[in-house]
Amino acid sequence: MDTRSELIPDPITDPAAAAPEASDVDPLVTRCVACPRLVDWREEVARTKRAAFRDQDYWGRPVPGFGPMDARILVVGLAPAAHGANRTGRMFTGDRSGDVLYRALHDVGLANQPEATSIEDGLTLHNTRITSPVHCAPPANKPTPAERDTCRPWLTRELELLRPTLRAVVVLGAFGWQAVLPALAGAWRVPRPRPKFGHLAHAELPATDGGPDLHLLGCYHVSQQNTFTGRLTPAMLREVFERAKGLSGAG
Ligand code: SF4
Repeated sequence: MDTRSELIPDPITDPAAAAPEASDVDPLVTRCVACPRLVDWREEVARTKRAAFRDQDYWGRPVPGFGPMDARILVVGLAPAAHGANRTGRMFTGDRSGDVLYRALHDVGLANQPEATSIEDGLTLHNTRITSPVHCAPPANKPTPAERDTCRPWLTRELELLRPTLRAVVVLGAFGWQAVLPALAGAWRVPRPRPKFGHLAHAELPATDGGPDLHLLGCYHVSQQNTFTGRLTPAMLREVFERAKGLSGAG
């Protein structure tokens, strides 16, 4: 079999071909091997591990979105963390960024618990789904523009499937903001000039299909760089999600 992956026996090499027909993106995206650099990195990290997790089996594959497919709110991050989601197999699970994110979601009633430690920890999201424009852990947390573009068909299809219920997208950071705009430009019209990223940036995207409009909200990323320095505080994060709740009608 022509695959570079040691972990995936039935790989998908072309998201642009596989994603548009998908009735469920999650099981397909976990088989993707389209970015050679990221396949190498995610599997190398899974092999070598961090000392604190040396007894654990790392996921080491693309990390799918998490949360119901009839969500009213979609949270868009950047990419899985090497020893967080790339280890546990669930978005923002098992690292400090996730600790901050899920506590805020719980505080505003969008998650049933504040902790996210493993896929078996019982966490569920209410009216909310979390995804990222790049589904594999990148070296130094920096995907290349080519990797972002290669991964975009998964995000585009996820948005199409969420379309009937989706009313608000919360984007964590400028990378996610730039990545999601082209993926939104189907069911919704992205204004020109494009809305600029900023914390609490808000744009309303008119629907092109006769359905409801979409609220796009910016939020600083929940990276340790932002949360440890106080650039993003728990109160600021709660404010963004309260706003998303109100705008989306997610009670
Ligand atoms: S980043 Fe996306 S396109 Fe690239 S290998 Fe991972 S899932 Fe596939």
